[in-house]
Amino acid sequence: MAPKLILLCGPSGSGKTTIVQHLLKTYSNLSFSVSATTRSKRSNEINGKDYYFLTVEEFRKKIQADEFLEWEEVYTHGFYGTLRSEVDRIAAMGKVAIFDVDVEGGVHIKGRYGKNLLDVFVRPPSVEDLYKRLVARASETPESLEKRILKATHELTYADRFNNVIINKDMHVAFAEAENLVSAFLNDHEELPVKK
Ligand code: 5GP
Repeated sequence: MAPKLILLCGPSGSGKTTIVQHLLKTYSNLSFSVSATTRSKRSNEINGKDYYFLTVEEFRKKIQADEFLEWEEVYTHGFYGTLRSEVDRIAAMGKVAIFDVDVEGGVHIKGRYGKNLLDVFVRPPSVEDLYKRLVARASETPESLEKRILKATHELTYADRFNNVIINKDMHVAFAEAENLVSAFLNDHEELPVKK
């Protein structure tokens, strides 16, 4: 049977990463697909856990070697990509891979996997709300903040390409909605969700 996959995507700052972390804590049979990136590591991040942090040269070599399921230059000099080896690693453990990718990456992954994929678009209630969240996160320079907001405004127009949309206004409501979707998806495939 083809492996099951869960995709959460949405603009940067939509809260999708927090929802993914919540799902990983809730279901022991999910495993995070660690993406590769060339962006700088934030102080709270761990190489190999949050991302595989690569140089641009290393990333380009992996592109040449066709090691990515999908990859993208998300911001200038910021490459991000899903490694094929992650999907294999997680399937070999008998677990369900969960992806946290941007909207373009999500569209690619969605195009590759059919009914074995649960696709969820996470969106903030508004662009103003997203702006406030990114400022609060304090991870951006004024230039990168502006880039992220411009990109997010464009990405919000993709929501209707996804089968499931969560409007992340209240985090607890969003968690509950995500759990409902995941439980239904896993049950639908005749495997009981393993809740911790
Ligand atoms: P951040 O720099 O905030 O960690 O991520 C920036 C954006 O890149 C986010 O929307 C994040 O979901 C996305 N991203 C992370 N990993 C991947 C990936 O493997 N592929 C693609 N296309 N986007 C990714």
